[in-house]
Amino acid sequence: MAKKGSKKVKKIRKVLKAKKEAKKLNIILPKDEVKIFLPEKQIPDAWYNILPDLPVPFEPYIHPGTKKPLTPDDLAPIFPMALIQQELSPKRWIDIPGEIIDIYRLWRPSPLYRAKKLEKVLKTPAKIYYKYEGVSPAGSHKPNTAIAQAYYNKKEGVKRLSTETGAGQWGSALSLAGALLGLEVEVYMVKVSYQQKPFRKSMMETWGAKVYASPTDRTEVGKKILAENSDSPGSLGIAISEAVEVAVKDPNTKYSLGSVLNHVLLHQTIVGLEAKKQMELAGDYPDVVIASCGGGSNLGGISFPFIYDKVTGKKPDLRTVAVEPTACPTLTRGLFDYDFGDTGQMTPLIKMFTLGHKFVPSGIHAGGLRYHGDSPLISLLHKQKIIEAVAYDQNPVFEAALLFTKNEGIIPAPESAHAIKAAIDEAIKAREEGKKKVILFNLSGHGHFDMVAYDDYLAGKLKDVPLTDETLKKGFESIPKI
Ligand SMILES: *Cc1c(COP(=O)(O)O)cnc(C)c1O
Repeated sequence: MAKKGSKKVKKIRKVLKAKKEAKKLNIILPKDEVKIFLPEKQIPDAWYNILPDLPVPFEPYIHPGTKKPLTPDDLAPIFPMALIQQELSPKRWIDIPGEIIDIYRLWRPSPLYRAKKLEKVLKTPAKIYYKYEGVSPAGSHKPNTAIAQAYYNKKEGVKRLSTETGAGQWGSALSLAGALLGLEVEVYMVKVSYQQKPFRKSMMETWGAKVYASPTDRTEVGKKILAENSDSPGSLGIAISEAVEVAVKDPNTKYSLGSVLNHVLLHQTIVGLEAKKQMELAGDYPDVVIASCGGGSNLGGISFPFIYDKVTGKKPDLRTVAVEPTACPTLTRGLFDYDFGDTGQMTPLIKMFTLGHKFVPSGIHAGGLRYHGDSPLISLLHKQKIIEAVAYDQNPVFEAALLFTKNEGIIPAPESAHAIKAAIDEAIKAREEGKKKVILFNLSGHGHFDMVAYDDYLAGKLKDVPLTDETLKKGFESIPKI
């Protein structure tokens, strides 16, 4: 014991006083970290493949013509062999090549934040953590797979990648990857977005990509659509068909997809693997993991390494929540069935939750969440009740985004704001139940190119139109019977 009046007691008094002062001034002391960084050395050196750990077998992709399970050779004209092998690999861990890690170092490991101020305004006993993927040069999680895909294509001698983009996030990520790895990139950008989002286009061109307003007269599909309607605004379905056609016709060109497929979710697991180490440093483990869900890649990325603990019995109570827009409620209102990945019926049939490949969602601002289908892995895990799903209207999502921005500073992408809304709701529920839960969500990107959406929200111009059962039924009618 230190003696009264001794040096040691004086020191303790001083520390206590400083703590009190800090509390008064709302200063956060070093032991309660706000950002948890990992050193570069700790970038994971293998991706986690969830396929061998699924509770039920993965249902094969089906060839649209023969209706038989797809073979690797069927995919060879559009994807490099390394990615085709990753798609159905039985191996739990897949090594990340050193060249890819070297590029990841430009922004990885990404920070994990504790949303201290948000917790305070919500008066919640819950701890809220978020992994921030907006630090990548393209501003979202998408470069995690774009870099890997460009790398494997380059290694197999491919000269050019073709792809589609809607809002422009994926096109930007692949253009960045093309620049860093020395590959040409051709982006078919949905015509309305091309006109409405000129700066995403400028970004892609700055990285050296060629960007075309789809439909174009460069492909047979495009020509056919333009002949029917020269003013066609385009759609993601049409743009996919154009990009695939270009790849099929040219032996030096392959096609690249930014979400949905297993190899894309595999590459994104780097997010969850880092988050797991960071949560450990923070001395916590999440009770619930939350992410927005369009095609499912940022959700699979952050959650699969944690779901591994659930399916192996280590953390049986772990919850995972997929958040989607009510305008495109694939998991919450869709059917679990085989369907095409695109409107033009060029892709294989995939067993997934779907609203029907002809379903056209209304023009909400979260463009990255306007997809009729979903990752087959996420779909299977939702069907097995391992992943829950919720859907929100645009206005409450933007309201949550503003509350977040005003307390945490970062302006989120409208897609990511869906995860914020669900995290806030979980924190409020914890307050009501008086529970100390730990919440982790993925802040998949920043919203710097989405200011028109924020303008519309601030001007009170966003509309939430309910999606009727009749509209849904029409979409379901396009699901093929096999
Ligand atoms: C593309 C995108 C999404 C949705 O795609 P997922 O494959 O479901 O992750 C979410 N957030 C951002 C920032 C995106 O760019």
